[in-house]
Amino acid sequence: MATEGKSNLSFILNKVHDVTFQDKPVPELKSDREVLVAVNYTGICGSDVHYYDHGAIGHFVVKDPMVLGHESAGTIVSAGSAVTTLKVGDRVALEPGYPCRHCEPCLSGHYNLCPEMAFAATPPYDGTLTGFWKAPSDFCYKLPDNVSLQEGALIEPLAVAVHITKQAEIKPGQTVVVMGAGPVGLLCAAVAKAYGASKVVSVDIVQSKLDFAKEFGSTHTYMSQRVSAEENAANIKKQCDLPDGADAVIDASGAEPSIQASIHLVRRGGFYVQGGMGKPDINFPIMTLCINEITAKGSFRYGSGDYKLAIELVASGKVNVKKLISQTVPFKKAEEAFKKVKEGQVIKILIAGPNEKVE
Ligand SMILES: [Zn+2]
Ligand SMILES: [Zn+2]
Repeated sequence: MATEGKSNLSFILNKVHDVTFQDKPVPELKSDREVLVAVNYTGICGSDVHYYDHGAIGHFVVKDPMVLGHESAGTIVSAGSAVTTLKVGDRVALEPGYPCRHCEPCLSGHYNLCPEMAFAATPPYDGTLTGFWKAPSDFCYKLPDNVSLQEGALIEPLAVAVHITKQAEIKPGQTVVVMGAGPVGLLCAAVAKAYGASKVVSVDIVQSKLDFAKEFGSTHTYMSQRVSAEENAANIKKQCDLPDGADAVIDASGAEPSIQASIHLVRRGGFYVQGGMGKPDINFPIMTLCINEITAKGSFRYGSGDYKLAIELVASGKVNVKKLISQTVPFKKAEEAFKKVKEGQVIKILIAGPNEKVE
């Protein structure tokens, strides 16, 4: 057995700021369409840190110890008899949420909206910061030879950005503003550019993030000022030569002032997409929304085709996710990694799997 002598050490959140390592039993394949994957690398996401810090996100509350992590890539170590698309040794990006496949949203291709979704590291489901992960084979995506396992761990946040950018219905030549230059905001900017946007403006409150955005995919940047939302919007229009506003504005910050400025920034008849999560309720400029007939949409995780497109964007060199990786640490340093993300010291930090060597 390929798992013999290997560790299934898992990084577990017991409760707020209380984490432990535990060697759990290796999961057993229950269906002939499942595969067992040795986890090589896992990226830390804002949501993982939020559970570590607060024990809950909205109505998802950590009640029992839960394995953290959901942004992973790994190597197939065994496959059920009905699996034809993958074989032992294949390197894969793991899509970490498994829908019911039978409900209306699932059948209409919007499985991210499945009410029975079992999503990694979302209570009560365990996450991927573990040695071995069991998954339905069609939710594992083979990485092309020119995409590394480290890059593979970035496919998850890139798929989030792909979905957000799809919601914004960006067409070649259009202009886009992205609020927030964290990992998802940066990736949205890069995807918008790959979709053919002629101008991509990143907005943030931290200069170093904007400097990075300029190198990563944005054509313009704007440092948000302590002025009204309308004034910030007017400044962006002026500084970035968007007299009529942007065709699409994406909020990847979840911050109230950004969301308000966004609505004032969208051109008449343009699109607004809420990608970032923050306070559940905010003051929203509905008058401008109405008068300018703006289409406002939400975006949640990813659905049909998003993972495949994300992998294609990396393989073709259109989105250089490697640039986002600040550091890779050994499994035993998982808690340190969480603290670094929390303190904003890194853009993206990867934790190597417990059986992976890191120098
Ligand atoms: Zn994530
Ligand atoms: Zn469903």
